[in-house]
Amino acid sequence: MERSFFYDYQLSRNKSIGILSHSGPEKRNGLFTTILERMADEVVLGDGGYLIELERRMYVCGDYWVPEVVLDHPEVMEGLHKEFIRAGSEAIQGLTFWTTRNFLDEQAGRGGEVEQINRQAVRIAKSAAADSVYVAGTLAATTLMGSRDKAKALSGMEAEHQLRHVGEVLAEQVQWLAEKGVDFIVAETFDRIDEAEVAVAVVKETRLPVIATMSWREIDVTSTDGVTAGECAKRLKDAGADVVGFNCRQEPDNIVNVLREIRESVEGPLAVQPWGLRSPGTTGTEFRPSLLGKNEVDPDISEAIQISRSAWRDFASAAVDLEVSYIGACCGAGPSAIRGLSDGMGKPTWVTYEHK
Ligand SMILES: [Zn+2]
Repeated sequence: MERSFFYDYQLSRNKSIGILSHSGPEKRNGLFTTILERMADEVVLGDGGYLIELERRMYVCGDYWVPEVVLDHPEVMEGLHKEFIRAGSEAIQGLTFWTTRNFLDEQAGRGGEVEQINRQAVRIAKSAAADSVYVAGTLAATTLMGSRDKAKALSGMEAEHQLRHVGEVLAEQVQWLAEKGVDFIVAETFDRIDEAEVAVAVVKETRLPVIATMSWREIDVTSTDGVTAGECAKRLKDAGADVVGFNCRQEPDNIVNVLREIRESVEGPLAVQPWGLRSPGTTGTEFRPSLLGKNEVDPDISEAIQISRSAWRDFASAAVDLEVSYIGACCGAGPSAIRGLSDGMGKPTWVTYEHK
């Protein structure tokens, strides 16, 4: 079989980064490096956001944000993973964001395909990764905890009841991700610490490494259930998260301040994945994007408020200075954002290899 340029590139990178082959923690030996070992050695570059990028390509519907593309257009899904790898990603996330049974059912009437979509998302990501970059499964906030408006936030018995339901839908999801052989889990975009703690507990049962990150709008200084970023980080670590941090809902410039607070609160590896959009309304007085309900990210304006590649470069340097161990990007950040991060981290991309 003729070896492709891509294959040669992967091989050269893997020699430099120490992964000769990687098939999950259970199969590792002296040659293999787990994601946690790798992070102890150097900063790992993750991938970008999928849903908004795929909405722009007309494979995700911006009215309800269900990743049906995994089932309906697997070739498109695999292609986007490969674009992120080409841009420099050393770890990619299977698109299992918002693929819980309840979400698929409520938003698209496809709850019956929950197992298929989760398994297929990992299969596609692993095919794109070709044993040369890490593959994560993603668990996201479920939408079962109700409003992100603090005044309407669930509490007491009502919250406890819903948290049990959260545990059930995440547990069935993570079981399929583990069975398909992901290298680690990213539990992300949690605006409530209680829900994030349930997610971490669920992942710990699989014994997979877990990165757990919170997410809220920059005008809010605490989670929906009233906990600061620093305190959330401590609680996530106490719950068993291997890596803690923040993702989405804040642009790179703003998220550095949150990172600083987290860095002052906990020791050990941190993760960060800002979203790729300038955030109008940082003072709380302007239009606020909102991911669900058509008004958090308005697809019609998302292209016009992109974070520039140079801003991603600058952000990567700032995050490295704060000793962050895992840097990626989230909603609205496509492959070129990862190229910017890669440059800022002094890492090669497939493009630099091809043109050297
Ligand atoms: Zn996001």
